[in-house]
Amino acid sequence: MNAAATLSAPAAIDCSRHARGLFIGGKWSPRGGIAVVDPSTERVLATVADATVADAIAAVDAAAAAAPRWRATAPRKRAEILQRCFALMTERHEELATLISLENGKSLTDARGEVSYAAEFFRWYAEETVRIGGEFRTAPSGNNRILVDYEPIGIAVLITPWNFPAAMATRKIAPALAAGCTVVLKPASETPLTAYALAELYQEAGVPHGVVNVITTSTPGPVTGAMLNDPRVRKLSFTGSTGVGRTLLAEAAKTVLSCSMELGGNAPFLVFDDADLDAALDGAMVAKMRNAGEACTAANRFYVQDGIYDRFVAGLVARMGALKVGPGTDPQTECGPMITRKAVDKINALVADATTKGAKVALGGQRSEGPGFYYPPTVLTEVPADAAMAFEEIFGPVAPVYRFAEEADAIAAANNTEYGLAAYIFTGDLKRGLSVASRIESGMIALNRGLMSDPAAPFGGVKQSGLGREGGVHGVLEFMEAKYIAASF
Ligand code: NAD
Repeated sequence: MNAAATLSAPAAIDCSRHARGLFIGGKWSPRGGIAVVDPSTERVLATVADATVADAIAAVDAAAAAAPRWRATAPRKRAEILQRCFALMTERHEELATLISLENGKSLTDARGEVSYAAEFFRWYAEETVRIGGEFRTAPSGNNRILVDYEPIGIAVLITPWNFPAAMATRKIAPALAAGCTVVLKPASETPLTAYALAELYQEAGVPHGVVNVITTSTPGPVTGAMLNDPRVRKLSFTGSTGVGRTLLAEAAKTVLSCSMELGGNAPFLVFDDADLDAALDGAMVAKMRNAGEACTAANRFYVQDGIYDRFVAGLVARMGALKVGPGTDPQTECGPMITRKAVDKINALVADATTKGAKVALGGQRSEGPGFYYPPTVLTEVPADAAMAFEEIFGPVAPVYRFAEEADAIAAANNTEYGLAAYIFTGDLKRGLSVASRIESGMIALNRGLMSDPAAPFGGVKQSGLGREGGVHGVLEFMEAKYIAASF
């Protein structure tokens, strides 16, 4: 992407084009609706279909009808279809980025980054489809051979959040299709247009009818519950909050469903005295402000050592204060609105709690006037350890900075959470960086970097941040079962 393209205004798009109904068995079924609101303006962009339990079962019927053929489709052919999905997403990059920016509110720069990231899952899994292996060896007893074959797990229900409307879907659909599974996707009702736009694209790329079905609903509990209790469904892959994840795990227990869970985070960002200050600030801006803080990997707690604390805070305030806040689709915008008014209310309450307990406001700290769901970039210093934001996801452009003296104290504070998704470490001493990384309870660590997401790497959390991994060579195995054959010959 060149600089001119980055700053160009997007072409107007007709959102209602992507609100044709539920996408089941390759056909569109219109149903009355869920309003999709532009968080930048509070205007209704389109009205999408509202699925019932019967619609959900029809989607499972379609996935079941398509399953035998898709499972039997040659890996090379499946790979070619995934490659075409990548090519079409790349071709429609700008249109998809504008749609994401409109329904989610994120800046065009972030939306463009998301489309590239989301498309890469198709390229990566197109490459993986033809490399799924098995095992063949002699049993230790010498009496037989051990054969292990990897088979598609079966019909998968995919549930995704609003914060990355394209990438959270493709991170599941691409490996599921690579594995030979058929799927029903239920995207978040705040951002369904991207999911439907992508459904059209998959069809054009040659994904057969029924292999990917997309349904939106205002009653996700009963609608997804009906699918999870259908014995034909064998997989749930969920990305969203830990609270909803717990509910779904309990539901999935009824049919002993295989579950992959990408849940909430509370990422610590550690800056040691010997860190390169500019690199730490660059990393902080990416880790905190990508998607205006609405990311599961967002730095939620900055732990900064005494010797660099004042300089880090001054640099962070300068950079956060210089960000241009505005509507997502304004090409100048660097920090868009939050997804809903409720999200702003939550951020506001967390900031009020911290300041009541003694935190100092170094920047921002007051919600913005509407229309639109805006909260300004905010930096809080001397945040007490018992502030609610030390334990809850802020999911917004608020950077709380905590002070520490000893390495052991920083590690203990970083681990003092039920979450364990992502963590960031900045130090000039690689030995210390790797040593601290080994003691942080987290599925992913960024060492002297502000970003770790990569389609070729295993993404996921420990503790209550999740189960399983997406991306990399691991992601496809989440949609497969090992079949062991003990053979004598
Ligand atoms: P959410 O849990 O409220 O919703 C996620 C999805 O679940 C949506 O599609 C929603 O409609 C659906 N849902 C809600 N209640 C349901 C129910 N009872 N039964 C079935 N489905 C239900 O999360 P959100 O607000 O959309 O997204 C933000 C959360 O997602 C944050 O906690 C964030 O950390 C997490 N997240 C995690 C990752 C990751 O990879 N670990 C990535 C992105 C977001």
